[in-house]
Amino acid sequence: MKVLYPGSFDPLTLGHLDVIERGSHLFDGLVVAVLRNPGKNPCFSVEQRIEQIRGATGHLQRIEVAAFDGLTVEFAERCGAGVILRGLRALSDFEYELQIAHTNKSLAPKLETLFLATATAHSFLSSSVVKEVARFGGPVGHMVPTGVAEDLARLFNQ
Ligand code: ADP
Repeated sequence: MKVLYPGSFDPLTLGHLDVIERGSHLFDGLVVAVLRNPGKNPCFSVEQRIEQIRGATGHLQRIEVAAFDGLTVEFAERCGAGVILRGLRALSDFEYELQIAHTNKSLAPKLETLFLATATAHSFLSSSVVKEVARFGGPVGHMVPTGVAEDLARLFNQ
């Protein structure tokens, strides 16, 4: 079975990458789906984010990276994915993720949502934290893949 891992990935962090790696071992194929959401005022374009994800997942088998907009459940169906994968870091993620999972279930009853608990080492990581540190010139090499760290340095002119 194929699994869809949707998100903003603005940018990809080592927490995301850990979920992708572990998810890819559990399923026959994993589609990383980058949400086109101009409302969120992203730092990186969808194309840049796709490049970052492709660059960091080259060592993995059966990974596809794609952009999508509209309903996640419809994109999952178009990809032939039977499961949506999401990561859980802390209790603070839980309420929001559960609401989305229930909503998706009401829209597409056959589609399941599966949560992977974050690796402890990455539990503090979020794209926003990474951008905040990088904006002020702090080191982010332990938070993101190398290519993303380089993009952040370029973005914030270091
Ligand atoms: P969204 O805007 O959809 O929340 P994100 O890119 O922030 O997109 O996150 C995508 C998914 O990855 C979410 O399920 C989120 O909980 C999960 N995630 C984010 N950071 C981590 C992390 N450090 N460890 C595990 N899962 C994470």
